[in-house]
Amino acid sequence: MKLYDSIINETDLILQAGVCRHTPPDPARIWKDRKESELIMLRDAAFELGGSGHNSVNYTCVTTTPNLIPEDEIIVCGPDLPDIREDVPFARIILLETEDLMEQTDTEKAYRAIRDIEFIRYHVFPAGYMVRVSSTSNEEQVRVSRKVVNAGIRFAYVGGTYIRKYHTLPLVKHVRVIFVTDPATVAALLPYAEKVDSITKTLTHILDGLPTDCGHCKMKSVCDEVEGMREMHLGKKRD
Ligand code: SF4
Repeated sequence: MKLYDSIINETDLILQAGVCRHTPPDPARIWKDRKESELIMLRDAAFELGGSGHNSVNYTCVTTTPNLIPEDEIIVCGPDLPDIREDVPFARIILLETEDLMEQTDTEKAYRAIRDIEFIRYHVFPAGYMVRVSSTSNEEQVRVSRKVVNAGIRFAYVGGTYIRKYHTLPLVKHVRVIFVTDPATVAALLPYAEKVDSITKTLTHILDGLPTDCGHCKMKSVCDEVEGMREMHLGKKRD
């Protein structure tokens, strides 16, 4: 599936323009996942990522293109958690290499796979790191407790928590987790969340059994723009 590839490539270009640090996940330093949400009171918080009206954005892209996401990796652009002193803009982006969902003859299985990937987006709970994701606005705020900042939490460790969770899905091959706190880079990434959302919604509608009359379809603008979407639905060619 290559529906998200142009967004993955454009995200890469934006990151290349900034100063980003790349690290592989360290299995010995994966931050604890609490398995359920944790309430952190404002008085116990060191700062909020995406808080105080700062920009925030969150999106997830899937690809099957070889070597686009060749390995598990964490990328951090901007100050890391130990260096943040106040609320900052924030982006968290997940890029996944998976088995080809569309080549699965079982549509129900492909549909479930998309749902499972979406589910994980809202169900990772790093300790002392209270995530609030908005499914309607694609924003993500994170309240980070003073306690875990003092304990040495870093994005690389939290990234390890996300990577481990995504690997619980058998179809996931590689995971790239990107954390951005650099204001200019966050601002540049903002428009992509909406595009990703449109593609994912169209995809789930297609798997849902959407009729194939393009002339009367509300997804037409997405299919006009995203290479491979129309062919996938009408079955002329597989990505
Ligand atoms: S291919 Fe046509 S019918 Fe299918 S989702 Fe796109 S516009 Fe709608």
